[in-house]
Amino acid sequence: ILDRRLKQVVDYIPKGSVLADIGSDHAYVPCYALQQGIISKGIAGEVNVGPMEAARAQVDLIESLDAIDVRLGDGLAVLKEDEATCISICGMGGSLIRSILETGKEKLGAVERLILQPNVDGQHVRSWLLENGYVLVKESIVEENDKVYEILVGEKGIETIYSEEVNERNWQLLFGPFLIQERPEPFKLKWSREADKLEYVLGQMADGIQSEALIQKQVEFKRMRDKMREV
Ligand code: SAM
Repeated sequence: ILDRRLKQVVDYIPKGSVLADIGSDHAYVPCYALQQGIISKGIAGEVNVGPMEAARAQVDLIESLDAIDVRLGDGLAVLKEDEATCISICGMGGSLIRSILETGKEKLGAVERLILQPNVDGQHVRSWLLENGYVLVKESIVEENDKVYEILVGEKGIETIYSEEVNERNWQLLFGPFLIQERPEPFKLKWSREADKLEYVLGQMADGIQSEALIQKQVEFKRMRDKMREV
């Protein structure tokens, strides 16, 4: 049985997909998706040998070595061009997800849907989607074991959700344009925690020598903290 976070990821995979799950570790996502009859073929990519072996063991356990390929390599380098129709990248920081997408752009030709689950820094993933001609079609946020996870779904297309106004757009990128409207409980929890962290940092800063740059930073942090409390 899959945890809530990965279950939500699997729920977003279009039926009949050739799924590449990058940074797959135990290959839970492709294995579960295959067992549910959602994907026709899976690729589990891993850059590290230990997790790659864990993936292979799991695929072997469900007797699906012919349907799910386990491959060792960095990011999207494990894929052939036009091979995957859906890509999931889960359980990493937003900057790493962004750099995997950026480095492997030429492998995205046949991809109809990206399912991205950044543990932190979701704004880097949203801005990559926006800058690269993807529409953010769905966002969810789930709480599990006292942690909060965002799941972002991107598809090729023309973006219309983001504001033209830069400030407003930056807040949308940070909080998520859908999530900031819906404000579900895990969302409120996430941002009240982030506000607490900033509060702590501000407390530390107040004790130091006040340079012009530091004062600027404090002003910016206070603005962010207030916005986080407000949402
Ligand atoms: N995707 C699984 C999940 O969400 O439960 C595993 C997440 S685990 C925290 C992150 C995995 O990403 C690790 O197994 C790590 O080896 C792998 N990883 C990190 N950088 C990677 C890269 N550039 N390419 C492929 N895998 C990578």
